[in-house]
Amino acid sequence: EEIESLNFIEHIIEGDISNNKNDGRVHTRFPPEPNGYLHIGHSKSICLNFGTAQKYGGKCNLRFDDTNPATEDTEYVNSIEQDIRWLGFDWEDREFYASDYFDQLYDFAVRLIKKGKAYVDDQTAEEISATRGTPTEAGKESPYRNRSVEENLDLFERMKVGEFEEGSKILRAKIDMSSPNMHLRDPAIYRIKKAAHHRTGDKWCIYPMYDFAHGLSDSIEGVTHSLCTLEFEVHRPLYDWFLEELDVHHPQQIEFARLNPSYMVTSKRKLLELVNGNYVNGWDDPRMSTISGFRRRGYTPESIRNFCDKIGVAKRNGIVDIALLEHSVREDLNKRAPRKMGVLNPLKVVITNFPEGEVEMMKAINNPEDENAGTRDLPFSREIYIERGDFMEDPPRKFFRLGPGREVRLKYAYIIKCEDFDKDESTGEITTLYCTYDPNTKSGSDTSGKKVKATLSWVSAQHAVDAEIRLYDRLFTVEDPTGDKEKDFKEFLNPDSLAIIQGKAEPSVTSLKALDHIQFERQGYFNLDPDSTEAKLIFNRTVTLKDTWAK
Ligand code: ATP
Ligand code: MG
Ligand code: MG
Repeated sequence: EEIESLNFIEHIIEGDISNNKNDGRVHTRFPPEPNGYLHIGHSKSICLNFGTAQKYGGKCNLRFDDTNPATEDTEYVNSIEQDIRWLGFDWEDREFYASDYFDQLYDFAVRLIKKGKAYVDDQTAEEISATRGTPTEAGKESPYRNRSVEENLDLFERMKVGEFEEGSKILRAKIDMSSPNMHLRDPAIYRIKKAAHHRTGDKWCIYPMYDFAHGLSDSIEGVTHSLCTLEFEVHRPLYDWFLEELDVHHPQQIEFARLNPSYMVTSKRKLLELVNGNYVNGWDDPRMSTISGFRRRGYTPESIRNFCDKIGVAKRNGIVDIALLEHSVREDLNKRAPRKMGVLNPLKVVITNFPEGEVEMMKAINNPEDENAGTRDLPFSREIYIERGDFMEDPPRKFFRLGPGREVRLKYAYIIKCEDFDKDESTGEITTLYCTYDPNTKSGSDTSGKKVKATLSWVSAQHAVDAEIRLYDRLFTVEDPTGDKEKDFKEFLNPDSLAIIQGKAEPSVTSLKALDHIQFERQGYFNLDPDSTEAKLIFNRTVTLKDTWAK
């Protein structure tokens, strides 16, 4: 019998189900603001919200929290939908927008005014923040705090129809200017913003504040468990206050730790800065922490979901080692990626006793981890390329690959022996190796009894196709690029995060489609970049075979 341990959110939910709270329903939501592309941190929230609903036979809404007209855009809505679907989740017909509730939210604000729980303040933003006080010192009540309900209703209505300038008036909740929780010191509910909204156009010139819109949207949708990140813990009393004052359905807000992977930034605002400043090539640059960047880099949805699962649900913020995510994608691609021969840094080898013009087909296994993946034919001929690093002119004792007079096996082919080499004396570069092959050593029918210590990958020179290969390193040089508040995170950008090299690959790679995954044997996992053309194939290295960063 399997013993499954519950995370703390599941504990709460199972308690609620057994108490028949909300009639035993589980209803969550993923609530992105459409002001940028989703990042790996969001995948934690997506897996948690959609995954928890699935687990308990409930529902999960996709709700765009679009209350900030200036920064939001339909492009972002579309990318967010694409990324959630790609991760493997489906909201069916439950796609909602906070902006769909603007009329209802306005009515809620009017109800608060009528209860004497909200007022229009004429103070400037500076005056309001100067009188807010400090956590240990009470704030000062606004001189407009005791306006009559009638006057507030009239002013709020006139805010709505556009009579006042931006910043000249604001609707505030009337709570407690001496509360130790600063969020309860008469927080703003509605502000004037004369900006077109990506969905409601020019219909509104006042917009609800996040705290007001968010909880009430949850309530309108019948959400039962509103899962959000830890920074909202201090907002929870306000979340609860609005729902109680308005006496509406009351979802429970539960906070969990943000996912902050090492060597990355996960803030849409900072990612936008990287895109706008051309520090990267767009939102889906394979070095970005965005879901679209990971997709383009060759990560699979399964690898991201498994990673989110493995790191669990924490109550305290911390940095998660990015090596865990790399491990997860290695594990997944090992099972699914077809093996190909590819040489990243080619060195020409002439097999002097192999007949000129002859081509021999070698049987190569497509995926040793997948019996059904079958085999393919690899052409072998007199001239091949091997990896430059697989030869040393003067090898140390522990180097078992090629050197003058040494023997190695070419995978799926023959054992070869290095007889001679050419060297460019001016640069010291080895230009060609001359080897002989032993016809009795063919893989699968070796009768020679020879033992060699290394097996090399190779491609036939006349059959190989050129391949541009993009090697990625961490985008930032420090674990926590935003940890030092004195410094701009861009100071920690890694100038060597992208290296482009020209390699050679076996001919079968020409039938790959954009984003297809492969393993170049001995090199790592790669995918075909969507910018590839028939004339120019481009491969992204997703991850190396082993964790080269392990200390
Ligand atoms: P950003 O600073 O990147 O804009 P955000 O929290 O403002 O992040 P939202 O679009 O509001 O972004 O996020 C949607 C949901 O995803 C929210 O519930 C938020 O708490 C959650 N979320 C955002 N970032 C992370 C993260 N790094 N780890 C886990 N959940 C996250
Ligand atoms: Mg947010
Ligand atoms: Mg944000």
